[in-house]
This record gives sequence, C-alpha cells and structure tokens, in this order.
Amino acid sequence: MAPSESKEAGMERVIIIGSGPAGLTAAVYAARANLHPLVLAGGLYGGQLMLTTEVENYPGFPEGIQGPDLMIRFREQAERFGARVENVDVTSVDFGKRPHVVRTSEEQYEAQTIIVATGASARWLDVPGEERLRGRGVSSCATCDGAFFRDKSVVVVGGGDSAAEEALFLTRFGRQVTLIHRRDRLRASKIMVDRMQAHEKIGFLWNTVVEEVLGETHVTGLRLRNVQDGSTYDFGTDSLFVAIGHTPNTEVFAGQLDLDGLGYIVSPDGSATNVDGVFVAGDVNDHRYRQAVTAAGAGCRAAMDAEKYLEAMEFSMKPTAVLQAPL
Ligand code: NAP
Repeated sequence: MAPSESKEAGMERVIIIGSGPAGLTAAVYAARANLHPLVLAGGLYGGQLMLTTEVENYPGFPEGIQGPDLMIRFREQAERFGARVENVDVTSVDFGKRPHVVRTSEEQYEAQTIIVATGASARWLDVPGEERLRGRGVSSCATCDGAFFRDKSVVVVGGGDSAAEEALFLTRFGRQVTLIHRRDRLRASKIMVDRMQAHEKIGFLWNTVVEEVLGETHVTGLRLRNVQDGSTYDFGTDSLFVAIGHTPNTEVFAGQLDLDGLGYIVSPDGSATNVDGVFVAGDVNDHRYRQAVTAAGAGCRAAMDAEKYLEAMEFSMKPTAVLQAPL
C-alpha cells in the first residue's frame, strides 16, 4: 500500500534534485505512488541528453529520438502523474537536520526524503569551435553517437580508461580511429592499452593537444599542436570524441554525503546513502555505465526505496493500539 496522500504543512515528502533520466524516472515512480514529488530540476533541466542529438539506444524508440525530445517526454510523463518540476538550481543542503533542508537562491524547502540525481558533466577541452560544433561531430559519448560515423575518420582525445573504451567502441564504425593524448603514456589500464595497441584501426598521436575544432556546419578537422616542439598543423577528421573524464555534480553535497575519491556519491546498499532518508540515482554515483537507460533504472529504484522508507517511517509514527486486559 502506498503511504497516504496527505502532506504535513510546508513539508515535502520527496524532493528530487536533478532532472535527467534518473531524476525524472524517480519522479514518475514517486508521483505514481502518490508522493507528489517536487523536482528541483536545475536551471537547465534535462541533464546531459539535452546536449546530444539523435539517441538510438534508448529502448522503445526504434527510429531513434532527439535527446531533448526524449527529456521533454520524460518530464511530461512525470507531470502527468502530479510531479511538480521547477527549473531552479539547488544552492545548498542541510542533511544533518530532520527534516532535510534544501535551499535555492529563492526558497528553503524541507523534505522527509531526498533523491539526489544531479548527474555528472562531461569535461570539455574548452577550445574554439568545440561548443559550436557539439552535436555536429563533437561528442562526449561514443555509445550515443558512434554509429553516425560509419566509415568516417574518428578522433578520440584522452588517455584514461574512458578514452580507451571510446576508441575501442568506435572501431566498430569508424574507418580509422586516432587517439590523441597530451603525453606519451596512457593512464588507461594495461589491458585496455594492449587492446588498443593491437587494434589495426587505432592509431596514436602522442604529446599532442587540440587547439581548435575546424568546420562550419560540421567537424572537418582539428588544429593540433605538438607540445614537445610547439609545431601546429591541421588534421582532417569527421569527428572529435572528448573523453577526458566526467565531473560528478556533487559540489553542494560535499561534507553532507559520503563521496568517493573521484567525488561520486557513495551508495553502499542499493540507492541508500550514508544519510537516512537520502537516496541517490544515476550518473552522480555511477562512473561505470553512464547510460540514460541505466540512470532511468536507478531512478526507479531510488523512488521505490524512498517510498518504502516513508511507509516504514509513517508506520512507526502511528500510535500503537494498547490492548486492555480484562479486569
Ligand atoms: P581519467 O582516468 O581521469 O583520465 C582522463 C584522461 O584525460 C587523462 O589521460 C588525462 O591526461 C586526459 N585529460 C584530462 N584533461 C585533459 C585536457 N584538458 N586535455 C587533454 N587531455 C586531458 O578519466 P576517465 O578515463 O573518464 O576515467 C575515470 C575513472 O573511471 C577512472 O578511475 C577509470 O579507471 C574509471 N573507468 C573505468 C572504466 C572501466 O573499467 N571499463 C571505464 C571508464 C572509466 P593525463 O593522463 O595527462 O592526466
């Protein structure tokens, strides 16, 4: 049985922070459990999919769907069941108190449970042309965009496991995959390095950085600089996959929730965090899978955990019937 619909005055039962696939799936489930969730969606709602073009690997869309269109549908679905979505950024939280406190620049909210689904942001090179050509050859997700570069020339920048994984994945599509790294040594694990070096389609440009992404309507090349001799030259390519790591969006939770060495929220048991009543879902605690569909699944899980938590809390607060012994 779902917990009753009534709310304490001024008190939210569930606040969801974040509005990518994890946050909005949590909102659908929480709304359908009559928890009337409040989603603090961020000034730019929708998460990383708002920055992509065609999404071809989200189940249920055999023809593919534009990333922003998919997120609009997520939001409409959550709102249809009563979720309230506000496009505001959370500026601070206080999870040391009960109820939990969440602040934006305008408001202070209190909630019995919180679902943190603030995602992670891909790191970018911050060079001219990169932002302008994002979705037009510049990408941070090979799984999402690799298939658009069948038989094309593909470049991956980075030297860690993400770059190695992207480069290996892109060999399925690209005619030639060039990995560009700023040093002469990869940071990626040995097994990934061995696989890349053994792959006939993968070539390497060492000690090299991208200075500019070239192209008018789509990527046509990169201006590169050799960091050892300072020489610059143009390199023709159809795409640039930037894989220099992600930054989990956990700044406002530092000191409140346990974070791992990379800054991701730790969830030792399902979606539970170290704070009672605070749950986590999606890329903000997952640097491994990072897919819309895995984030959506995690959002579902967190909402169900929050619902169970509220049920148990409300049950424990009910006055216990005292059995009168006959005199
Ligand atoms: P990472 O290990 O931090 O590697 C980032 C890479 O990008 C580094 O090689 C770094 O160069 C380079 N880089 C950073 N900033 C740059 C810039 N401005 N310009 C050019 N290059 C830049 O990040 P990651 O590869 O995303 O991995 C993050 C964590 O997830 C790691 O612990 C990794 O093992 C793990 N992971 C595991 C798997 C797997 O097990 N399958 C897959 C993906 C990620 P330097 O080397 O010079 O610093």
